Amino acid sequence: MSDERSRPASAAGELDFRSDTVTRPTAGMRQAMAEAAVGDDVFGEDPTVQQLQERIAAELGKEAALFVPSGTMSNLIAVRLHCRPGDELICEAGSHVYIYEQGGYAQINGTAVWPVPGRYGILSLDQLQDTVRGDNPHLPRTRLLCLENTHNRGGGRIQPYDTLAALCDWAHGRGLRTHLDGARLFNAVVATGIEAPRWTRHFDTVGVCFSKGLGAPVGSAIAGPKALIAEALRHRKVLGGGMRQAGVLAAAALYALEHHVARLADDHQNARLLAEGIRSLDRLGLEPDAIDTNIVYFRVHPSCGTAAQFCAALAARGLRMLPLGPALVRAVTHLDVSRDDVARALEILAEVVGGGAGGL
Ligand SMILES: *Cc1c(COP(=O)(O)O)cnc(C)c1O
Repeated sequence: MSDERSRPASAAGELDFRSDTVTRPTAGMRQAMAEAAVGDDVFGEDPTVQQLQERIAAELGKEAALFVPSGTMSNLIAVRLHCRPGDELICEAGSHVYIYEQGGYAQINGTAVWPVPGRYGILSLDQLQDTVRGDNPHLPRTRLLCLENTHNRGGGRIQPYDTLAALCDWAHGRGLRTHLDGARLFNAVVATGIEAPRWTRHFDTVGVCFSKGLGAPVGSAIAGPKALIAEALRHRKVLGGGMRQAGVLAAAALYALEHHVARLADDHQNARLLAEGIRSLDRLGLEPDAIDTNIVYFRVHPSCGTAAQFCAALAARGLRMLPLGPALVRAVTHLDVSRDDVARALEILAEVVGGGAGGL
């Protein structure tokens, strides 16, 4: 595919495994952006944004969808749709909405959180049993269950379908709403073969990111029933997310939906390849050991230095990975990482590990 070869990313010769957000738009995507029909989307006049919203709503099996600048905004809008100040949401303790969004639920919406620690992000039904508060003026009102699939901090793990359905049935049975942070939902779809609408039908609202594995430069969507998405439009505006000729961005997202979903399987295969290599290196330990999708976490033995020192040594050899704890490193495969890049990355990892303290 000439499109893949003509991108500037490979010219830099850099191996960037820090995140699936580092991808640069391909030549084909840039062309689609350049040719996009646009209008003022705050006036509801951008045809490409409307096309994207209709398409993603249909793909997710929802009535309507709204294009928003980021996944963080889609989660915050969801919280505002479902929770008032004094309400509480339940989520997994390592989830993005809880850890990586500045506590926006509290900061912007006055909402409390009950974080439930999962196993690499995966929850089981029995863990939720006592999390719904009684009707008592001392307590917040439990309103929302927010799940994340795939789970970022959990190492790209997939919440098993049957458990996910049971968790949502449990929530709805207790009068709670449900929101899916599906920043990487399409990774779960491709890895399991379970279509998106089957996952999403258990949720009142769903957020997806176009700027992660799908390789678009900007953008997310929140999808759900028409009335809720009409309300979401108001929340997007007050959060400063109303955009004007956003069709150039929507065109990139449409291109990504057309061309970059099925290929996520390549990322998953590359992640498994990377993990196999890491497993064979003495002073590195996968955590978790199983690789469901495109995210690989591993621990470095203290004799290799801290995770930050280890990553600095990798970077000096042209390989970028992300230190995410004193000993924990994250590597993510994506559109700009080829099978050959994985092989090269494993050579560099072996070099640095083999070098001991001198290798650093
Ligand atoms: C990246 C991510 C988000 C936030 O998306 P941004 O576009 O970076 O704001 C939300 N949830 C998950 C699981 C993510 O990985």
